[in-house]
Amino acid sequence: MTAAYETLNRMLAGSIPDAVELAGLLKAQGKLTERIYASADRTRAEKHGSAIHLRGIIEFSNVCKNNCWYCGIRCGNSKVKRYRMSADEIAASARNALEWGCGTVVLQSGDDPLLNAGELAALLRRIKLETGMAITLSVGVRTRPELEALKEAGCDRYLLRFETTSNALFTAMHPDESFEDRIRCLNDLRALGYQVGSGFMIGLPGVTLEMIANDILFATKLRLDMIGCGPFLPHPDTPFADKPLIEDRSLYYKAIAMLRILNPYAHIPATTAFDALEPNGRNLVLCRGANVFMPNITPGKYRRLYQLYPNKPCVDEEGSACAVCVRGRIAGLDREIGSGPGHSILKAEGDTI
Ligand code: SF4
Repeated sequence: MTAAYETLNRMLAGSIPDAVELAGLLKAQGKLTERIYASADRTRAEKHGSAIHLRGIIEFSNVCKNNCWYCGIRCGNSKVKRYRMSADEIAASARNALEWGCGTVVLQSGDDPLLNAGELAALLRRIKLETGMAITLSVGVRTRPELEALKEAGCDRYLLRFETTSNALFTAMHPDESFEDRIRCLNDLRALGYQVGSGFMIGLPGVTLEMIANDILFATKLRLDMIGCGPFLPHPDTPFADKPLIEDRSLYYKAIAMLRILNPYAHIPATTAFDALEPNGRNLVLCRGANVFMPNITPGKYRRLYQLYPNKPCVDEEGSACAVCVRGRIAGLDREIGSGPGHSILKAEGDTI
């Protein structure tokens, strides 16, 4: 038996490999790759069953004060027409998400400097009152008092990706932020009782297999309730326009599969960027460890304006079309839509955080 097979077997028995061992497994080809996928899918089925939870995502503002090098809506991209949805538009979209079978609404924006915690809190209260849905926020790094106010207003979950554990890479790609501040924010979220989501971008320019392995291990160490990762895709209006994708596409999927094996209880979404990688990318991720799907509920007129990466799917659709499409996809996988809010099962399963 090769060392990589041994590493996989030990992971399946509950042990955590080191970065060198995990990098060796990321190189897997052929039958070993299939075994990694099958193991992840089995782990997902054992801990989460066949339900796929729907989290309807509303991209409610594309205004951002930051200049992350990989991002299509970075403030330096003057080609983007900026928008902010009104509270009425956001609440109406959330009601649509409920009607279309979502148990959670995800409110996502750029790091919008005019978006203050008071306004956000009022919006959260309104959505809770009108829909009763679970709410996830993804609005960038916030201070502890802001996070306290948002939790108080009914926010259940918060998503903030660390993107990479390489401090040098993080600093080079995020001129306006520090890695330490993101981790401070994640720690505050945990202390305040949020269900915490984080993750990283797979295949950022300059990463090595060992760095990806470190990212997987760091996400595991954080004991996350949700792990959201997607492939790096070069946006033409960014400094990374000419950077290539990883040649071995299976690496993107192996990373998700390994996250599942190491984090059996975490919710793992099939992130939209996988459909930009290849047309059935999200379906593949759902068969390789993921248990969450995030249909886009953003009104059609705004969708084209929120492109963090190119070839984003469904930008010409309206939410109702997405709802129908998602149901077809899930049925096609012989899975069903999860009922209820789909809260974290980490604590319920007695997993220590
Ligand atoms: S990744 Fe987020 S914070 Fe960075 S530029 Fe894009 S929207 Fe702004």
